[in-house]
Amino acid sequence: MQKILNYINGELVAPLSGQYIDNINPAEGKVYSLIADSDSLDVANAVAAATQAFPEWSTIKVEKRSEILHRISELINRDLDKLALAESIDQGKPVKLARVVDIPRAAANMSFFASAAIHFASEAHITDVEAVNYTIRNPIGVAGCISPWNLPLYLFTWKIAPALAAGCTVVAKPSELTPMTAFLFSQLCMEAGLPKGVLNIVHGLGPKAGQAIIEHPDIAAISFTGGTVTGKKIAATAAPMFKKLSLELGGKNPNIIFADCDFEQAVNTSIHSSFSNQGEICLCGSRILVERSLYEKFTDEFVKRANALIVGDPLEENTKVGAMNSEAHMNKVLSYIELAKSEGGKILAGGNRIKMEGRCKDGYFIEPTVITGLNSTCRTNQEEIFGPVVTIMPFDKEEEAIALANSTAYGLSATLWTENLKRAHRVSAQLKSGIIWVNCWLFRDLRTPFGGMKQSGVGREGGWEALRFFTEAKNVCVKL
Ligand code: NDP
Repeated sequence: MQKILNYINGELVAPLSGQYIDNINPAEGKVYSLIADSDSLDVANAVAAATQAFPEWSTIKVEKRSEILHRISELINRDLDKLALAESIDQGKPVKLARVVDIPRAAANMSFFASAAIHFASEAHITDVEAVNYTIRNPIGVAGCISPWNLPLYLFTWKIAPALAAGCTVVAKPSELTPMTAFLFSQLCMEAGLPKGVLNIVHGLGPKAGQAIIEHPDIAAISFTGGTVTGKKIAATAAPMFKKLSLELGGKNPNIIFADCDFEQAVNTSIHSSFSNQGEICLCGSRILVERSLYEKFTDEFVKRANALIVGDPLEENTKVGAMNSEAHMNKVLSYIELAKSEGGKILAGGNRIKMEGRCKDGYFIEPTVITGLNSTCRTNQEEIFGPVVTIMPFDKEEEAIALANSTAYGLSATLWTENLKRAHRVSAQLKSGIIWVNCWLFRDLRTPFGGMKQSGVGREGGWEALRFFTEAKNVCVKL
C-alpha cells in the first residue's frame, strides 16, 4: 500500500518511529494508503532543517524566490487533473469541484504570493524635516503552518505561500485526514528546485505532530486554520512563548435574504453556499435568515432545489454533493440533526445518512438537510455543524436581521441579498464578520485581508497582511 512520507530537508523520509496511520477514502470507507505517524523527533528534524535553510532563503534575491514559487504554481497547473483526483479520493469532495475550485486556487495562492513578494515594500517617513524614519521588515524565522481537511491543498498553500514568499522557512502539517495532496505537493517542490529545508512537511496526528510544532521553541510564528477548540489550545501553548499567532477558526455564518433581492440569484447561490463541498467550507452559510414576506416562497423553492441535488460518487462528473470527510464527522453531523429534532426543529429536506450502491456502499453520505422552526438561541443555531445542514428563520425588520446575524459567538463571514444599495452598505457596516458578500458568495481577491472576528479567530491573512505577518518590523530613526 502507498506510504505518505514526510518531506524533510529536501527528501521524502519515513517517520523515525516507523509507525503509520490508516488513510481512508471516505466515499468507500476503505483504507487506501498509509500516513507517516510522526512525533516530536520528526518535528525536531524538520525544524533543524528549516533553521539551517533560513539564512540563505531569507537573503537570496527576491526575484529568485519568486521564480521558484512561480515554478511550483506552474507545476500545480500542469498536474491539475492528477491533484484534483487525489483530493477527491482523499477528502470525499466531487472531483469536479476540486478541478474547478480547490486546485486552481492552490496554484493561484502560489503565483499571487510569488508576485507579491517582488512588490512588497517598507515605509519611510520624513519627521518634521528633522529625521527620517524607515521600517525594516525582516522574515521572522521558521514558521509553523497547520491546515485542516476541508480544502486540503487550497488551505495548505494559503499558509505556506506567504510564509515562503516573505523569506521564512516552514514546517507544515496538513490534516491527517487529508494528507495526499500535500504529499504530491512535496514532490512538486523537489521538481521545482526548492532548496532543501526551505519547506518541510511533517504528517501525522494533531495532538502529537501538530502540538510538537506549536511547542517547538525555534518556531517563531504559527499560522493555523482549524476548529475553534483546537485554536484555543494552540493559543494557550503559543502565547506564553510569545510566538506570533494567526488563527483562522470556525464559523456559523448568516445568509440574509431581503424581500427585495434578485430571487433567482439568491436561491441559486444559497444552494451553493449551503451545500458546496458537503457544507464543509468554513465560509458556508449555515443560518439562512429570510424577510417574512418572502419566507414561504424562498423556503419552498430552496427545499425543492436541495432535494434535487445529486448526492453520490465523488468521481462522477454530475455529482454535486460527495462524501463526508470521515465516519466520525458524519456521525457528528447526524447527531446535530437529531439535536435539531429534539429542539423542536422541522426537517423539510434530508435528515438522513444515504446508503449508496456499488463502489460507495460503505461511504459516508448525508442528504442535504433543511431545518425550520428553531429559535436563534438553540444549540443547532449556535454551534458549528460543518456539514450539509442549514436552518431557515424568518425576520421582520432590518435591525432584527442584523441582531440575529450577530447573535452567535462566531464572526467569520456573512452573505447579504438585497437590490437596495443603501441597505447593502448600512447592513454590511453593522455585521460582525470578517468578510461580507453582497449578492454573491465565495468570490475572493487575494489582496484583501481575510480572517474572522470573535471566536472565528485573530489575525488577518491575505495580501500585504499575510506577508507582514511573516515578518518582524523594526524602525530606524536617522537624524537629518
Ligand atoms: P481541527 O482544529 O480539528 O484541525 C485543524 C488542524 O490542526 C489539523 O491539521 C489537525 O491535525 C491539527 N491539530 C489538531 N490538534 C492540534 C494540536 N493540539 N496542536 C496542533 N495542531 C493540532 O479542525 P478540522 O481539521 O476539523 O477543520 C475543520 C475546522 O476548520 C472547522 O471548524 C472550520 O470552520 C475550520 N476552518 C476555518 C477556516 C477559516 O478560514 N477560518 C477555513 C477552513 C476551515 P489532525 O487533523 O491530524 O488532528
